[in-house]
Amino acid sequence: MNSAPNGSFASVDASAHLIEAITQKRAGQPLRHRQIARLIDDFVAGRLPDYQMSAWLATVACQGMTLAETTALTGAYVDSGVRLRLGGQDRPIVDKHSTGGVGDKVSLVVVPMVAACGVAVAKMSGRGLGHAGGTVDKLESIPGLRVDLSADAVRRILRDIGMVITGQSDDLAPGDRATYRLRDVTGTVDSIPLIAASVISKKLAFGADGLLLDVKVGAGALTPDHATALRLAETMVEVAYSFGMPCRAVLTDMSQPLGFAVGNSLEVKEALAVLAGEHVPGLSGLCRMLARVMLQLADPNLNDDTADRRLADTLDSGAAYDQFLRWATAQGAESDVLAQPALLPTAACVATIAADRPGWVTAVDPRAIGHAALRVGAGRLVQGTPLDHAAGVLLRRRVGDYVERGDPLAEVHHSGGVDAATAIASTRSAFTIGAERPTAPPMVHQVLSPQLKTGPTTVTA
Ligand code: URA
Repeated sequence: MNSAPNGSFASVDASAHLIEAITQKRAGQPLRHRQIARLIDDFVAGRLPDYQMSAWLATVACQGMTLAETTALTGAYVDSGVRLRLGGQDRPIVDKHSTGGVGDKVSLVVVPMVAACGVAVAKMSGRGLGHAGGTVDKLESIPGLRVDLSADAVRRILRDIGMVITGQSDDLAPGDRATYRLRDVTGTVDSIPLIAASVISKKLAFGADGLLLDVKVGAGALTPDHATALRLAETMVEVAYSFGMPCRAVLTDMSQPLGFAVGNSLEVKEALAVLAGEHVPGLSGLCRMLARVMLQLADPNLNDDTADRRLADTLDSGAAYDQFLRWATAQGAESDVLAQPALLPTAACVATIAADRPGWVTAVDPRAIGHAALRVGAGRLVQGTPLDHAAGVLLRRRVGDYVERGDPLAEVHHSGGVDAATAIASTRSAFTIGAERPTAPPMVHQVLSPQLKTGPTTVTA
């Protein structure tokens, strides 16, 4: 036995097994279920050092995995921890996952809308990653609101309120957590089988009855091109089905930020505006469409018109807004802030970026906007740093809008400091103004068929 860098003891047997798996994989031969289960078990137990596991992940990222291997890896991640067991509710429970983007506050709108229709929603959310924000960070901008819930609290709030949103606990899929830490620093994040196993294992361990996957496509997405996003969506649906979890996937646009707000409390305020019935271009329609698919996951016989009518009613009657307030209060939010969203964190300084020429806005680069938000403290450049919940970027124009010279394009909300200048420059660079009126991109690129039950059995890289 040797001391391993991940704090435990490497084992000669485990290393020999891993080397055999790498050699086999490099030769293009698929690994057996048993082999993959053992690798993850050995790594989580500290019998394999980080450098050997990194070599295996790199080989997988290069060679891809069959669907059977991806499913085995997913199962190994699930088995490395506990299952939450949400059950015991009197109705189906649905969950939602987004592959992430800029200004993606869809969950804050969709979850209360669906819950207000009587479908239980249990959502496990993450923190921001790189230029993309995370729901947990957005929710923590609401004073008092807790997202570090115990399993008992998750079940209780779900039963009493009909919805719950929580962060990932350490004991769900620890094999994924341990390997993600290595992937993050070895250039192996953007591998379709590794992403699929990572996402679906956490959802299976969380234990909802159905899952909506919002797979983003476009410059600000994890998978910018359509073909890769589609392969990722199909792989995740197939893996979910192989564990008996009904799953629908929708490919949605991330070629510009969603709505106007980017940054934690700015996004909460925008989500509350949608719940209060305001129409926000580039957000409201997408939320209604995704909410409809979630209702149909719970009730496959529900037709589009009925689902749309129910969802519109939740906005018109104020039921979705009330649902959000009751839920946020149950998770600890301060009631005076909820009663007056203007009391949410607000930046001391606002810098307005104006158009330097007249014309049509032909592009708003989501990565440049996401980086601007990071620079002013809405996200983390270094792991573990505290966020400025008030900071971010508020767009004033979207693709397809016409501007005169001097018209506002965006505002950078910040609390002063040198990085504000970088953020302002990045925001300015995000906008392209042209003479030709552009065609605005569709919000929804593709809805995967609910019948998709067989599919990519070929090797996916
Ligand atoms: N999000 C995840 O949860 N896992 C990945 O591998 C990538 C994004």
